[in-house]
Amino acid sequence: HLAVNDVRAKYGSLEVLKGITFSIEKGEIAALVGPSGSGKSTVLRALMGLTPITGGAVDIAGETMNYSSAKEVRAARDRMAVVFQQYNLFQNMTVMQNLTLAPLKIKKWDKSEVMSEARRLLGLVGLSDKAEAYSDQLSGGQQQRVALARALALKPQILLLDEVTSALDPELVNEVLDAIRKLADEGMTMVIVSHEMAFVREVADKVVFMDAGQIIEAGTPAELFDTPKTDRARDFFSKIL
Ligand code: ATP
Ligand code: MG
Repeated sequence: HLAVNDVRAKYGSLEVLKGITFSIEKGEIAALVGPSGSGKSTVLRALMGLTPITGGAVDIAGETMNYSSAKEVRAARDRMAVVFQQYNLFQNMTVMQNLTLAPLKIKKWDKSEVMSEARRLLGLVGLSDKAEAYSDQLSGGQQQRVALARALALKPQILLLDEVTSALDPELVNEVLDAIRKLADEGMTMVIVSHEMAFVREVADKVVFMDAGQIIEAGTPAELFDTPKTDRARDFFSKIL
């Protein structure tokens, strides 16, 4: 269960999140959609404690986080992992090293368990044969799938994905979407930002339409795409669907 309650954030004097409230249950997927600059990435950054919040709180599985201390931020980062459009793999390391570095060095988890989980995740994203490849030897789509697996290796309760396909060549988009579909089938709770509306319709339980730092409308994909209630949502979806 994830509940975002009246979260606010500012860049300087500009309030870019003006009270964001939405929730999803375990195993559900929420998709944040809306025009450029509406605050979608900032929501994910705020959830990870990368952008300080100036109000509100986030509830994960009954625990309230308000990011008021380094300890609180750590607690949030223990529960969530994020993948951005620009995956930043460690370039001088193999795929396997990318997946296992943080679990071994930061989490200090048991090595054989970390290795076997990493291999399982590589299978999940369809890259079992690339374990020993260096990340700069991979295609963009392969690198993004490694970034997904690397985030999952930290065993997040919630995975946050920010336009993970939008830097990819069109023919590589589907292999990444397939990996996300598999995660959805496994019951991963996710908050995704995506411009792939057909994909959002297929996988999302809830669509959250944002504009200018506010939620204008939220509902099922069918409600938002087929029968939007607000003029702003109708206008937005009529242009992109
Ligand atoms: P896009 O679809 O283009 O990725 P978005 O919905 O993700 O847009 P955000 O990146 O969350 O939008 O930005 C929300 C607002 O915050 C925008 O007005 C943006 O200009 C502003 N903003 C984002 N990052 C910063 C920053 N580091 N410093 C100042 N303002 C910022
Ligand atoms: Mg963004």
